[in-house]
Amino acid sequence: MDQVPDLASIVTTVCQDMETHLGRGRVADYIPALARVDPRHFGIAIVTCDGRIAAAGDADLTFSIQSISKVFTLTLALDKLGADLWDRVGREPSGSRFNSIVQLEQEKGIPRNPLINAGALVVTDTLLEGGDASETIAKIADFMQRLADDDSVSIDAEVAQSEAETGFRNASLANFLRGFGNLKGPIDDVLRVYFNQCALSMTCRQLARAGLFLANNGVDPLNHTRVTTAGRTRRINALMMTCGHYDASGDFAFRVGLPGKSGVGGGILAIAPGRAAIAVWSPGLNAAGNSYVGALALERLVSLTGWSVF
Ligand code: GLN
Repeated sequence: MDQVPDLASIVTTVCQDMETHLGRGRVADYIPALARVDPRHFGIAIVTCDGRIAAAGDADLTFSIQSISKVFTLTLALDKLGADLWDRVGREPSGSRFNSIVQLEQEKGIPRNPLINAGALVVTDTLLEGGDASETIAKIADFMQRLADDDSVSIDAEVAQSEAETGFRNASLANFLRGFGNLKGPIDDVLRVYFNQCALSMTCRQLARAGLFLANNGVDPLNHTRVTTAGRTRRINALMMTCGHYDASGDFAFRVGLPGKSGVGGGILAIAPGRAAIAVWSPGLNAAGNSYVGALALERLVSLTGWSVF
């Protein structure tokens, strides 16, 4: 039996150890509303399967979850479509940047995985089928509120608008997917839902709580609600491990050894299966578009807890 680690002192230690690194990396500036965020923020929150919560730093400040939303829309899409989803999106790491278009041409409009932009657009398209954009956005926001157990979780309209005005690469990806017949809904609606899901604004505490079902075979351990099946949870975690950090997924697995998903807002959600969900946030990004200090903090956390799956 594992010893129960003293999480309060561990998050405090991680937070202190990050002090000298704060401000490293570059804030995402291709979305103007994100470029204004102070890069020196750092927050961490851990929620365990047995209900303990430990948080430090800016754990209660909201940030834009961006691509971390892809994990949650994937959960919804798998529940809606089951294994049919895999006819439209692959399950291999891309080895490319998150918004790359090159593979789509060679691979005939089937994105490598659901955690890169092209794959996430297909996932969003499946959620849109049978409803309109506003209903789909509301469904996603409602899912996040339920998972976070917090009605205050909301979408930052300014961030969504800012991305809509500058999202030319995503518009290209969506048009390209449509050209291959792998996007069915109206392109503007798919993009609108996608930009809104990315603009979900959450704190580390809310995000770790929302991801907790992934650490517990698909059941929220605190309210005993089944969110998805154990099999799908295993697959989602496998995809987070292999694809959650784009072309730096191997490095993240090597350094941290937990399923994780990053976003260009500087957040990372990591899952310690059977134990806990962890959210970190620090806006400065490395060259691959993942939080520089966030990954460093998770590396430190894993060395203190021994929670790597390897
Ligand atoms: N909304 C961002 C985009 O599509 C999400 C990318 C990310 O977080 N890596 O460009």
